[in-house]
Amino acid sequence: MKLYVVGLGPGEQSQMTVKALEAIKNSDTIVGYGVYVDLIKDIVEGKEIITTPMKKEVDRCHMAVKAAISGKNVSMVSSGDAGIYGMAGLVIEVLSEYENHNVEVEVIPGITAASSASSVLGAPLTHDFAVISLSDLLTPWEHIEKRLSLASEAGFVICLYNPSSKKRADYLNKACEIVMKNLPKDTPCGFVKNIAREGQESVILTLEELKDAKVDMFTTVVIGNRTTKIVDGKLVTPRGYNI
Ligand code: SAH
Repeated sequence: MKLYVVGLGPGEQSQMTVKALEAIKNSDTIVGYGVYVDLIKDIVEGKEIITTPMKKEVDRCHMAVKAAISGKNVSMVSSGDAGIYGMAGLVIEVLSEYENHNVEVEVIPGITAASSASSVLGAPLTHDFAVISLSDLLTPWEHIEKRLSLASEAGFVICLYNPSSKKRADYLNKACEIVMKNLPKDTPCGFVKNIAREGQESVILTLEELKDAKVDMFTTVVIGNRTTKIVDGKLVTPRGYNI
């Protein structure tokens, strides 16, 4: 049986790959967090749907694995790319704990938020960049601080995932303060909320302004480097070509 781990892209179906669509069509059972299953509700009609709340990731993987072992083709869906802050690794690990099964895992990539956010803002990721999540649920905050500090010192453009939540309302502020030790206050930055979903909103602003910006858990943030600039209202990091 197949256990597909499917990245759905940022939101709208036109940004989902054909392969992802085929995997979902070929599945008897769809497993995922409710919000993601909702994004594809019109293509999963008639299929068994298993949704679990957030923070029940391990349970969700066991449910998906058990459904596949019982003889069903299963798609476990996540937003963006399922292998980038997604469930792909956990599915592989959980399946390895079961013996004598005939389940084959296939990870199907999707457009990750860094990519979709960057396209909305312009072209800020044309050179080396680092992706850092500000969520300290699974990573100690000191590690996150170190990554922010070293990535900005090394000149990477930085793309932030999970920039804020109700419990972590000031994390973006703290992150900007760390980065400001290595970058000028007027460094061009941007963020995009609800990419490819209802209410999409994008803002280009300076690092100093970003420090006090209101962002939520459906926002992706881009912090430029010393070469990033604003060209015709778009955020651009030049690759270095002479024009
Ligand atoms: N697997 C996902 C990332 C999951 S982590 C991917 O590859 O995109 C969750 C974080 O991703 C969010 O807090 C946000 O920072 C970002 N994100 C995911 N989808 C988004 C969207 N449609 N709009 C804005 N940000 C998004």
